[in-house]
This record gives sequence, structure tokens and C-alpha cells, in this order.
Amino acid sequence: KGLVVSFGEMLIDFVPTVSGVSLAEAPGFLKAPGGAPANVAIAVARLGGKAAFVGKLGDDEFGLMLAGILKKNGVSGDGLTFDQGARTALAFVTLKADGEREFMFYRNPSADMLLTPDELNLDLIRSAKVFHYGSISLIVEPCRSAHLKAMEEAKKAGALLSYDPNLRLPLWPSAKEAREQILSIWDKAEVIKISDNELEFLTESNTVDDATAMSLWHSNLKLLLVTLGDHGCRYYTKNFKGSVEAFKVNAVDTTGAGDSFVGALLGKIVDDHSIIEDEPRLKEALKFANACGAITTTKKGAIPALPTEAEAFELIKKASQ
Ligand code: ADP
Repeated sequence: KGLVVSFGEMLIDFVPTVSGVSLAEAPGFLKAPGGAPANVAIAVARLGGKAAFVGKLGDDEFGLMLAGILKKNGVSGDGLTFDQGARTALAFVTLKADGEREFMFYRNPSADMLLTPDELNLDLIRSAKVFHYGSISLIVEPCRSAHLKAMEEAKKAGALLSYDPNLRLPLWPSAKEAREQILSIWDKAEVIKISDNELEFLTESNTVDDATAMSLWHSNLKLLLVTLGDHGCRYYTKNFKGSVEAFKVNAVDTTGAGDSFVGALLGKIVDDHSIIEDEPRLKEALKFANACGAITTTKKGAIPALPTEAEAFELIKKASQ
């Protein structure tokens, strides 16, 4: 099996035990390990694929806990480094009454932001068949330079580049800066996954239609995906476009659905990039990815809710009966 290397942040979300209250009123918090790129690596491994995570953690109890979670889930930690000074990033989550989430980050700076280009495990990065990343690692130096170098090395070694910007607006100095920086690496990626909200944000429009999505097309791109929550996803390639509907499930927490979707898709295309150019096989892979996304919404948290291959097949089978 080919290796999926995922680059970026891994952190701990502190999720309140009750919804609809402020951080000050919350009676307590549960630790929920996360960080989109780490979730994607674990999603790939849980489904039986080969994955590695590249990033920096604090040399503290939380950092060691997160490294242990990667290991327990069969994700290679060969790309991990530990900062001797800065702490592992934390985020306190507010669960609003309408189900939306708000994040308050503790990154002043956190260890992930301090990853330097020199600390990259280039042998690992060059062995990737798919190299996946987000945009949070672009926000500040030196991590930004490390991100750009890792991307370049992976590309030179022949990896397929996969990008999920995973917009977290409060982390950026301004919306304008976020948009510009997210788009600054746009034309490098061959697979891009965005949500409907990100499509609106990036194009500064309030419509989620084909024309808006195609305005983000570029000549290196092979596959653009727009996820639509319980409406499934839309896909765009050079030669065809279409949609794959979602599975009906009882969603309790959508955290990690997009990461589960991405991990499932990357796990499919890592050994056979040609799936992207073959519409029936692409639709099959996206159906599988939708099933994985759906299952992830049925349990609290991201990592505990990522499915195995058997669970995904079971949902697909159940839905076809
Ligand atoms: P993100 O987490 O990046 O915002 P989405 O919420 O759109 O991404 O979820 C990614 C995929 O997970 C969707 O395309 C869909 O297939 C699945 N999914 C998400 N929410 C639901 C839901 N409520 N019911 C069924 N499937 C869902």
C-alpha cells in the first residue's frame, strides 16, 4: 500500500460537557484530540491504509498523549518533532445552541507553529504517494516555510498533492489575509476539498453552484470536491462533474466528518491515481467517502468516530437494501 503523509497541526480540543453555555459558564470540558491533518492520517490508517503525520508537538504531557494516539492508531510518528519550550496547542470549544461551534485557541505560540524546515524528515516526505495538508500551517513562520518546503519536496518526489484549507478564521489576522494566503498555494494542489462555506468565503459570493466552484479551477487541478454536509458532495474534474448523495444517519456531532471523508478518498486513490479520471470508479470512491463522513457524525468527537472499512461497508450495504 502507498503511503499518505499528512502535514500540519495536531492539538487538543476541550469540548464543554453541556451545550449552549459560554466558556465561563461551562461546568467542565472533555479532552478531544484533533487537528484536521492528524485526523486525516488516522482516518486513512483506521480504514487499513498506510499513513504518517508530520508536525510538531510540545514536549509536555499533552504532546506525549497525542503522539501515543497516533501510534495506537497505526500512524507513523517518524515525522513528529517535539518543541522543548512551547506547549502543545489547545482549543476551547463553545457549543452553541444551534449546533455551531466556536473555537478559542491557546497558541502563543504553540509548538506546531515552531516547526522549522530543518526539522522535516525529508526521507519520509519523499516516500509519500499522497501528500496532504491544510492552511493553518501557513499562518505564521517558521511553520509556513516548513509547510512550503515539505510540499515542494513531496511534489518533486512524485507525490499527489491534496489540500483541504479547513478555514479557521479566528486564527488569521484578517479575512482578507486568510483568503489571500489560502489561495496563494491553490495552484499547487491536484486534489482540493472544500466545504460549501469555504466555497462562499474563498469566492466572496453567496452562491454554491457549479459556476462558483469552477471559478476556483486551475490547470494543475485534477479533482475539486465541495462537501455539503447532509447533502453529500459535488465533484469536478477536467472532463466531468456531478454529485454523490449523502447517507441518512442520526448525526450527533459533525466534528471530523470532512477529515473522515478526505481520509477515505485518499486511501482509495493513493494506490491508483487513475480513479480520478474514471467517473464510475470516482463516484464509487466518493460514495465510500460519504459513508465514512456520515459515520463520523454519529458519535461524539473526531478520532473516536472515524470508521473502519467494515463499518463503512455495512452502512453502504444497509442503505442499498
Ligand atoms: P466539513 O466537516 O469539512 O465541513 P462536511 O460537514 O460537509 O465537511 O462533511 C463531509 C462529508 O461527510 C459530507 O460530504 C457528507 O458525505 C458527510 N456528512 C457530513 N454531515 C453529514 C450528515 N449530517 N449526515 C450524513 N452525512 C454527513
